[in-house]
Amino acid sequence: MALAHERVFGQRAEAIIYPEASYKAYIETYGCQMNFADSELVAGILQTTGYTFTPSPEEADLILINTCAIREHAEEKIWQRLKYFASIKRQRSHLIVGVLGCMAERLKKKLLEEEPVVDLIAGPDSYRHLPQLIRQVESGTKAIHVLLSREETYADMAPLRLSPHRVSAYISIMRGCNNMCSFCIVPFTRGRERSRPWESIVQEVEGLAKAGYKEITLLGQNVDSYNDRGLRFAQLLSKVAEAAPNVWIRFATSHPKDMLDDVLETISLYPNLTPYIHLPVQAGSDAVLERMNRGYSAEWYIQRIEAIRRYLPEAVISTDIIVGFCGETEADFEETLSLMRTVRFDSVYQFMYSERPGTLAARRYADDVPPQVKQERLERVIALAQAISLERNQAQLNSQQRVLVEKPSRRDPNDLAGRTFSGRAIVVRGAAAFAQPGDILSVNVTGASSATLIGYAASSN
Ligand code: SF4
Repeated sequence: MALAHERVFGQRAEAIIYPEASYKAYIETYGCQMNFADSELVAGILQTTGYTFTPSPEEADLILINTCAIREHAEEKIWQRLKYFASIKRQRSHLIVGVLGCMAERLKKKLLEEEPVVDLIAGPDSYRHLPQLIRQVESGTKAIHVLLSREETYADMAPLRLSPHRVSAYISIMRGCNNMCSFCIVPFTRGRERSRPWESIVQEVEGLAKAGYKEITLLGQNVDSYNDRGLRFAQLLSKVAEAAPNVWIRFATSHPKDMLDDVLETISLYPNLTPYIHLPVQAGSDAVLERMNRGYSAEWYIQRIEAIRRYLPEAVISTDIIVGFCGETEADFEETLSLMRTVRFDSVYQFMYSERPGTLAARRYADDVPPQVKQERLERVIALAQAISLERNQAQLNSQQRVLVEKPSRRDPNDLAGRTFSGRAIVVRGAAAFAQPGDILSVNVTGASSATLIGYAASSN
């Protein structure tokens, strides 16, 4: 994702400023929704200091890359991008290059030492300090701020919304995570859990509704442990639903050990709370779940799924699955496949275990499942997941769905892409002729693949 901006301050800038010249920044983001929300926050902070934005790094005076550290592969991409930014810097010597996010927090000053193109490092809790860090680089020294905070929620800072269409927006309701899943780097890169004051969340929701946004996604590593002065997630959902009754409300990510029935009941009571639940299971074997330190059993997980379907029969349920975790036997893996056959997820995000330095798993267990076995298991999960997703989507044939149009279809410019109220991806044939992003259409479902539904608009309302 790329942005554009400009600013004027500091010694070096004045030396090269022309009267109407402006400095531009470019932000590139990798990883999870939380990182995209953080990039909007960073853009908002830069804008308050006079920046504007450019969609191309070649034009930028400031490049910020917001990184992910969840898997080895995610970091490899960043090293490549930094090499490219170095080539730009050879043409634009005043260019400032900064690394933000989880990789910045994980590697800290090692990034400055290993990659000379990098001038600035800021971790996920350090964005408030960005203007001062940039001034420090302006005055000729490298800058780094990677202190994790127990308080920081950026509640008083307004993100700059970046999506071209005022349709969907993210709101971070909390930061950090207190769980210590043994494979996960997040507690080390995003710190301890802290919930944002509900008043500031509701205020932001009201602002987005007034600005015409149609969908808001509340974000947290584990939304079920939201706790603001005793106000829990179900109560927050009620307040948000009441604050913007015409806006579709989604949230991610839930945790099986903490997701209580009151959240499900609350969703069933409000017509604008969407029945979409992302509930990562990670594995189907209790032995593996134990080593992952997930805090629940496969049986408990299935009971949570049954509770979801009891309160929300139309619910769309997605999950995360890791294959090839330390010590995973073929029998353990079969239990993952068996759980998938029992639950029948609408969609699955599947990953091969990638050892992350510093995590509990890296300290306790050998990464002993051979890469080719991980690959083979990944392919078996993908094949089963797709077969079940197709079955789940085909069950929607001949149904009528409320669809929020998000963007033009990638495949056919006559079509528009969007999501049903319950969160299924859908393409509306020929809708570009009479509808646009932000419209809510009533659509007859006429086709289905494992990834998306196909339909025709019955009417636009
Ligand atoms: S719940 Fe577990 S997997 Fe998710 S962010 Fe927290 S530690 Fe990582």
